[in-house]
Order: sequence, then C-alpha cells, then structure tokens
Amino acid sequence: MAQPPPAARHPTNEHTVQAVLWVQRSGEYRALCHQAFNLARRVLDEELKASPASKKRAVVVDVDETVLDNSPYQARLIKTRQAYATATWRQWVDLARAEAMAGAVEFLKHASSRGVEVFYISNRRAEEHAGTLVNLRAKGFPHADNAHLLLRTAEGSKTKRRAAVSATHEIVLLMGDNLNDFSDVFDGKEPAGRIAEVEKLAKEFGRRFIVLPNPLYGDFEDSIYRYNRGLPETEKDVLRKGALKDY
Ligand SMILES: [Mg+2]
Repeated sequence: MAQPPPAARHPTNEHTVQAVLWVQRSGEYRALCHQAFNLARRVLDEELKASPASKKRAVVVDVDETVLDNSPYQARLIKTRQAYATATWRQWVDLARAEAMAGAVEFLKHASSRGVEVFYISNRRAEEHAGTLVNLRAKGFPHADNAHLLLRTAEGSKTKRRAAVSATHEIVLLMGDNLNDFSDVFDGKEPAGRIAEVEKLAKEFGRRFIVLPNPLYGDFEDSIYRYNRGLPETEKDVLRKGALKDY
C-alpha cells in the first residue's frame, strides 16, 4: 500500500484546538459542568422526596468527559501531531491522573450519602479497568469498585449494561456527554438522524437524562465521518467542511 501523504501521517489536529481551549480555559465550560451537576442534584432530591422506590435507587454516569476530564490527552495529541491511538490512550489511562469534572464528586457523594448507588458505565476497555479505578478513587468518587464499574464488553452499546443495573435498581437518572450514554436509538445514525431522535426525546433532557458538554470528540464527530474513524485526515477534513451549513 502506498504511504499516505505527510499531512495524513502527522495530523495537525488543528480542528480540535478551539475545543480543547474551550474545555481547559473557559469559565463557560466549567459553569456548564456545575449547571449539569446542580440540576442532577435537584432532580435526585425531588425524586427522593416524591415516593419510596420499590428497588434500591441508582444514578448511572459515563466516565470520560462526564466525571473525568481527559482534555490533557487531547492537548498532547495536538502538540505531538498524533491521531488518537489505543496505545497512547492506554498510557494516559494508566497514569490515572485525569482530574474530576467540576461538580462531579460533590454530586455523586451527595447521592451516595442519600443511599443512592452510583454505577459507572463506560466504554473504556477491560484492560483499562485498574487504571480507571485508581483514578476514580484518587479523586474521591464513591462506589469506585468492581461491582460499580461496567466497562466495554464485546459491544459498544451500553443497553445491556443499563439493563443489568435496572434489574436490581431503579435508575433515577443517566448522565453522559455522548447520546449513546442514554439510549441506543442514536447508534449508527447520520447527524440529522441523531438530531431527530433528540427532538423525540426532548422532554427527557434535564429530567432523566442530563448531558455534559463535550466538543472534543464523540459520536457527533464520528457520524460526520459515517463512522469511518480510520479515514485519512485529509478525507475527514473534506467531510467536516462539507457538513458545515451556511446561509
Ligand atoms: Mg464519555
């Protein structure tokens, strides 16, 4: 196979610079994180007041860009002109140095103090289990143990893992930065299809579903590439520009 051109081998990641800066340097991003966890607390407290649950209550959270901030990994990719790779990601996970998202520990500790269990449903891989637990524990997250950390199995869909929690617990709310943290109706859809599904579920957001902002990466981006994450950077750039809507 012919070598890809230098630009493809050494991506500039220029399109992610603004997103990383927004996450790391804007007060607005931090305020939105607090807003999400403050809202979560209000929803949970109202639920606890409302009626006794038939099952033990649970809050389900995603890990990356929902309770842990991996923006330093993204910043490193920019500085070293590398694309995301499982080997470098694994190194970052094993360092267990991700900071907690603003408001996350406080909210989850509050939930735990009220007898609500916290489940972490993440698509980190099985080999990242140990590093993830070390990181969550170091930051003071409650229920950071084997029983409450459900990582990626054979499939990326989180539906079965949510169902496993539902079998024994009443899930009061789900928190995530990617729509697949809430439902699988978004899976594999093009951008317009994902937006249409959000509209159908509009009433759930801010109630049972609480979203954290993540402009760094996610299915929103992959959907623009028609889920071909391995495309050369030059082709991704063409698809990104082609997806822009002007007037
Ligand atoms: Mg995430």
